[in-house]
Amino acid sequence: MKRTTDVSQFASMFRCPLCGSSMDADSGKSLICTERGHTFDRSRHGYVNFLTKPVKTGYDAGLFEARSRLIGECEFFDPLHHAIADLISPPKSGQETFTILDSGCGEGSHLNALCGFDYAGKTAAGAGIDLSKDGIVKASKTYKDQMWAVADVARAPFLDHQFDVVLSIFSPSNYAEFHRLLKDDGMLVKVVPRRDYLIELRQFLYTDSPRRTYSNAAAVERFTANVGNSRRVRVRYAKMLNRQAIHWLLKMTPLAWSAPEERVSLLKEMTSAEMTVDVDILMGMR
Ligand SMILES: [Zn+2]
Repeated sequence: MKRTTDVSQFASMFRCPLCGSSMDADSGKSLICTERGHTFDRSRHGYVNFLTKPVKTGYDAGLFEARSRLIGECEFFDPLHHAIADLISPPKSGQETFTILDSGCGEGSHLNALCGFDYAGKTAAGAGIDLSKDGIVKASKTYKDQMWAVADVARAPFLDHQFDVVLSIFSPSNYAEFHRLLKDDGMLVKVVPRRDYLIELRQFLYTDSPRRTYSNAAAVERFTANVGNSRRVRVRYAKMLNRQAIHWLLKMTPLAWSAPEERVSLLKEMTSAEMTVDVDILMGMR
């Protein structure tokens, strides 16, 4: 399959996050906005940093490493990726490739997996943005077929109506910005946890806490209010994790960070544990 890659694929799509003008991406090491000369450098790994100052996200390099291993080596989200890919219909226009933006992509594993599917003979060209530099550094070192940028999801560095698909997977949504970024016939795909997401983990870690239960009602309501023709597809499955995978999961999920230490230690001793993935895929047209 033909792979598309790199900043040049998206060269004509960038927008200066400071003044909103288009950008010249052809000059190699940096992107320069055409109106006021605002300059953003490309790192040696190829990503672009669009932030003028770093933002503390609470997610560090160790978390992204764990998430990358859990997704890559344990195939923890494979059934979810297949379900999302089944729901994405490529645009009917003649072009061979279509564009996907992953908003809040973290270390990039979801986007990379979704760009690996064949979409009725068409190929997805992926761009991922995240506030976390650690996440984008990891993404750009690991995945060379997509374009990565450190950027504010609320002020994405792309011109209007550039993307066929915008993804928001376990990540906050900015609907005004999603509408701006999507093409007229573009599709928004959001993944939110459901009641039983990591239920085994919740119930093991919290013997008496509101964190034992979870509802996505508010997130679903916001999506429905903001997105036309919305659909909801539930995906539910369980995966058996070995000891190493349990450690990765504990490292990557905020659920575990504030849990009682003795419960976390007990779970770390286990040689295997089953974990449920229970999510809603919400999708709709612009
Ligand atoms: Zn500018």
